[in-house]
Amino acid sequence: MKKIKTIGVLTSGGDAPGMNAAIRAVVRAGIDAGYKVMGIKRGYAGLINGEILEMNLRSVSDIIHRGGTILKTARSAELKTEAGIKKAVDMAGIFGIDAVVVVGGDGSYRGALDLSKQGLPVIGIPGTIDNDIGCTEYTIGYDTAMNTALDAMDKIKDTAYSHERCTVLEVMGRNAGYIALNVAIAGGAEVVLIPEKTYDLDKDIIKPIIEGRNRGKTDYSVVVAEGVGKVIEIAAKIEEKTGIETRYTILGHLQRGGCPTVYDRVMASRMGGKAVEVLKQGRINRVICLKNNSLIDLDISEALAEKKSIDMGQIDLFRILAL
Ligand code: ATP
Repeated sequence: MKKIKTIGVLTSGGDAPGMNAAIRAVVRAGIDAGYKVMGIKRGYAGLINGEILEMNLRSVSDIIHRGGTILKTARSAELKTEAGIKKAVDMAGIFGIDAVVVVGGDGSYRGALDLSKQGLPVIGIPGTIDNDIGCTEYTIGYDTAMNTALDAMDKIKDTAYSHERCTVLEVMGRNAGYIALNVAIAGGAEVVLIPEKTYDLDKDIIKPIIEGRNRGKTDYSVVVAEGVGKVIEIAAKIEEKTGIETRYTILGHLQRGGCPTVYDRVMASRMGGKAVEVLKQGRINRVICLKNNSLIDLDISEALAEKKSIDMGQIDLFRILAL
């Protein structure tokens, strides 16, 4: 294997609060380890187009507290093609990049795997608000996104309480209900709907709301993960079937922005530092994962094959606490 002297760093897929802290850690730990560090803009699209510039210690000043990513992010259809992969590997060669640190979700990991197969070493850092990467217990941005959604829910609950209404709140999570379930538990919702579990309108939504009313509740929250969808329809059905005034709110991209929490900043800093450490030890084509609360690195293909599932016991607990 060629000795690694220059590393590139890019952010890819959906942005997540804490990505800047990860970039900062890769740049500073990388320079400390003796590497030249190149910032690649706009994810894989920027790698293909050569949007690459050298980073120094000051390039990452004053970014640890900022959401988003200073390197910008993008989705690149071209990288999913053989020609796109070749262009990306060639461009890395033109800039003398010997390895790329990719901060992104599992789609970005698949792109990284393709690059590695064509001879460009990669290291993956999990960065996505959804926490939906199978090999790791944590992904950068998840804690901040949950806190943002919870803050919005608390505010909506104040007004729902005053008007004695029901609120249907859509939070992010296309394929995974982690954000929805935790926000529902922490926010004291009456109902939660997640993509991992099918629901029956009457049994799982209407009945608990009416039973709650009969036990003296006067306002109600239904938290719905984005992947379940249909919030407008669900809100209309609740109002029609229960007679309780019902409003819906879709939080959308609000949850992707904002100042990262302590947990996200520290985790992103640790993961960035670990990525450099792994390279320094001569291990390539690895991804950084949190397992049993420790940071480890795994082979990227093996990591991509790993699955995780939501703890159904938490749903049972939610139901008890929502009574
Ligand atoms: P998030 O979960 O936050 O959306 P992600 O990394 O999963 O993040 P994607 O849009 O799925 O986001 O992927 C980002 C980029 O990675 C894509 O635009 C594409 O360039 C590359 N990519 C995604 N899937 C694949 C794949 N199956 N093979 C090769 N490259 C891929």
